[in-house]
Amino acid sequence: MIGTEMINCEVCGGRLIRDEIALNKKLNGLETEEFLCLECMAEEFGVTVEDLENRIEYFKESGCTLFED
Ligand SMILES: [Zn+2]
Repeated sequence: MIGTEMINCEVCGGRLIRDEIALNKKLNGLETEEFLCLECMAEEFGVTVEDLENRIEYFKESGCTLFED
């Protein structure tokens, strides 16, 4: 279950929250073993953290099951 996973950012080592884990899986595939926090992901993709938060909201609104509560 996503809620019980404890995953840390590959780059900074920070604990990822559930939405961050879901976004990693959404963008990199369910089998990904590399996880980045929003800040490091934003740097990697050349976007802002806000862009990524907006994307999370978009995926939630579109009913993506990775992001369900
Ligand atoms: Zn990080």
